[in-house]
Amino acid sequence: MLGVGFDDMTVAEAAKRAAEMISGGERGYVVTPNPEIVWMCRKSSALREAVNGASLVLADGVGVTLGARILGRPLRGRVPGIDFIDTLFGLMSLSGGRVFLFGAKPGVAEAASEKLRRRYPGLVVAGVCDGYSDDVSAVIGKINAAAPDLLVVCLGAPKQELWMAQNARHVSAALCVGLGGALDVFAGAVRRAPAPWRRLGLEWLYRLISDPRRLKRMAILPQYLLAVIWSGLRGKGGR
Ligand code: UDP
Repeated sequence: MLGVGFDDMTVAEAAKRAAEMISGGERGYVVTPNPEIVWMCRKSSALREAVNGASLVLADGVGVTLGARILGRPLRGRVPGIDFIDTLFGLMSLSGGRVFLFGAKPGVAEAASEKLRRRYPGLVVAGVCDGYSDDVSAVIGKINAAAPDLLVVCLGAPKQELWMAQNARHVSAALCVGLGGALDVFAGAVRRAPAPWRRLGLEWLYRLISDPRRLKRMAILPQYLLAVIWSGLRGKGGR
């Protein structure tokens, strides 16, 4: 879609595949692009390469599944990043998997780790680090000292996708996952849309009402949809 290739997977399939990658020691990273990220990929070849270089590219949001339908290549469903990681944490907690939480403001990852420990008693939060240090090698040193199986990277887009494309091979975790504001949600600092909103595909509207500053970012949506329709009409399904 507009130059980004998505994996057609359900939440359960994506989490199972990620768990297999971790247990098999396959190395890679996972991205969960929404329309804003797809749109940014049109403007930045570095970001497009980072996104398409991921082991799993999951369709985060109704804008992506709608776009796929417009292109006549419907995806089987949405894979919101937070649902994906919830399911993956559930699988990892069965085997005492180790996760490192990287990103968000100071204190947020610690608060998230407390909540996660209670929710997934078998999951080991091996370490945390906020997302506002410029010293990449110190951050990588801290991550590697904690020896995690999975690294959750929550720096917002496009920072987290570029960070993973550049650094995933330098961290000892088998898998990295870019998850935007997920740590804020796990910490309880940001509320997720209630289930009925999510079922109706209106999570984006809930987030917009909760944080109207997102309007600026979301203003690209009409252009995104027009570009998808245009590429569908040209029969390319691509750029
Ligand atoms: N963030 C960070 N370092 C930065 C910029 C942002 O750790 O240099 C964090 C920010 O604190 C927030 C997350 O990245 O926790 C981005 O959240 P947002 O809701 O914007 O992401 P989305 O889920 O919409 O991609």
